[in-house]
Amino acid sequence: MSEKILNELLAMSRTLGDPGFDYAILGEGNTSARIDEETFYVKASGTALGTLQAQDLVQVSFERVFDLFANQSMTDAEISAGLKSAKLNQESAAMPSVETFLHAVLYRLKGINFIGHTHPTAVNTILCSQHAAEAYSGSLFPDQIVYCGPAPVYVPYTDPGLPLAHAVWEATRSFCDTWGEVPKTIMMQNHGFIALGDSANEVVNITQMSVKVARVIAGTYAMGGPHFLSSDALNRIHTRPDEHYRKSLWGTR
Ligand SMILES: [Zn+2]
Repeated sequence: MSEKILNELLAMSRTLGDPGFDYAILGEGNTSARIDEETFYVKASGTALGTLQAQDLVQVSFERVFDLFANQSMTDAEISAGLKSAKLNQESAAMPSVETFLHAVLYRLKGINFIGHTHPTAVNTILCSQHAAEAYSGSLFPDQIVYCGPAPVYVPYTDPGLPLAHAVWEATRSFCDTWGEVPKTIMMQNHGFIALGDSANEVVNITQMSVKVARVIAGTYAMGGPHFLSSDALNRIHTRPDEHYRKSLWGTR
C-alpha cells in the first residue's frame, strides 16, 4: 500500500516540477502524502520536485511533528533536531523539509491525502502584487469553482517554517467554519500556493486550474479589474449535481 502511495507521490511531484509548467524550479516547493493514521511522506530538504526519487522522500510521524507544532518557543536548532527525530528511518540522511509542519497540520483535514506546494510564476504574479487579497476575494468562472472550490484560504505573508504553519492552520480553520467544508487551495501572500487533494491526480488538476485562474486574473487587471461572479451564481455552480458528476469523473472530490 505505501509503495502505491509512494509511486503516486513521485509521479505527482515530477509533474508539478516539470520545467515546462513553470510551477516550481530548482529546490522550490514541496509535496507530501498521507500513508496511514500515524505517518506521512514528505519531500526532503534540498531536493528538486522535477527529478524526485524515492530516497528524496522521508517518512515522518504525525505525533512527533504535532508535539513540535504545539511548542511555540523553539530555536531554529531545536526545530531542526526535532524534525530529524520525527523521521521513522533514522539511518537515512534525508532531512524533512522545514515546511513539514505545514503539511502535517493540513492532514488534520478530512479527506486530504496528497498535498502539493509550488511557486507557479503565474500565481506569484498575483500573490506578489498590490492587489493580491482583492484578486482572490471572489470567483471568476465556473470551472474555477468546480476544481478549486468556492474560495481559497488566503494567508498574509508569514515567516516560512513553524510561524507559517500556525498562520495557515488558523486561516484554514476559519475557512472550514465559514464554508462548512475543507478548502482545496491556499494562497500565501508573497510566497506561493498549496493544492489539497484526496488523490495525487486531484492535486495536479487543482494546480493546473489555479494557474489558469491566475493568468485570467492578471488579464482582468489589464481590462479594468476582475468582475467576480455573484454569490448566487457561485452557490448555484458549487451545488449543481451535474458539476458534482464532473468532479467524480476527474478524480476530484
Ligand atoms: Zn514555498
